[in-house]
Amino acid sequence: MIKRKKLGQHFLNSKLIAKKIISEAKITPNDIVLEVGTGLGVLTPLLCENAKKVFSIEIDEDLFQEAKKKFSKIHNLSLNFGDGLTTKEQFTIFVSNLPYSKSKEAIEWLATIPFSHGIIMVQKEFAEKLLAKSSKNRKAISIIATQSFEITTVSKVGKNNFSPPPKIDSVILKIIKKNNLSKNLIQTINKIFSYRRKTVKNILKQFNKESLIDKRVDDLSGDEIINLANKILEK
Ligand code: SAM
Repeated sequence: MIKRKKLGQHFLNSKLIAKKIISEAKITPNDIVLEVGTGLGVLTPLLCENAKKVFSIEIDEDLFQEAKKKFSKIHNLSLNFGDGLTTKEQFTIFVSNLPYSKSKEAIEWLATIPFSHGIIMVQKEFAEKLLAKSSKNRKAISIIATQSFEITTVSKVGKNNFSPPPKIDSVILKIIKKNNLSKNLIQTINKIFSYRRKTVKNILKQFNKESLIDKRVDDLSGDEIINLANKILEK
């Protein structure tokens, strides 16, 4: 049970929602799909129907072994055991009912990698954070996500569509790649948000750089935060 909670093991039990995810993923015969978290495999065989190749990675060895037995006949499927968020496989489409505790890590990782688009399921609160309009609700991950992706909400998914049901409802998001961000830039954006009550002038002072700007982080637009991060990173 502890393992299940930690790994976000709430399995989608709705074929209808699985089909919706697949249709929104717009997979063509040229696409290589990465699925993180095979789970019980509600999405996996459907992903394989149109794709050139599907890599599905599961960190729980029991689930990985089960999937290997169940899907042994699917020729364009590669099932792997391990951490999907460190894979070196190249892909064009990302699909995942993300383990909730890994949502931030997944977005930061995806922001660094070139691919076309993805369909992800996240907790409602996390989706709200990513799409936050007001600077008060905005977090570092909101800036990272919106700089790297165009994000749209596909649909809300009630918690009873999972077994066992989580405490919170979920949201399916479509993410389309706009920019690849460097790990350094992501780290620096996170750092800037740890100084969010300071002025730009005082933040830059920490990095031995000068500025006359008296605005605080909450007063900056997303682009201004990126400019500030780039200025911090300038040699
Ligand atoms: N795709 C399945 C579904 O839609 O029902 C499972 C979704 S469940 C929310 C998340 C799955 O991701 C679990 O099976 C969990 O064991 C797996 N998982 C958690 N962390 C992972 C990681 N870092 N890499 C690969 N799989 C992971």
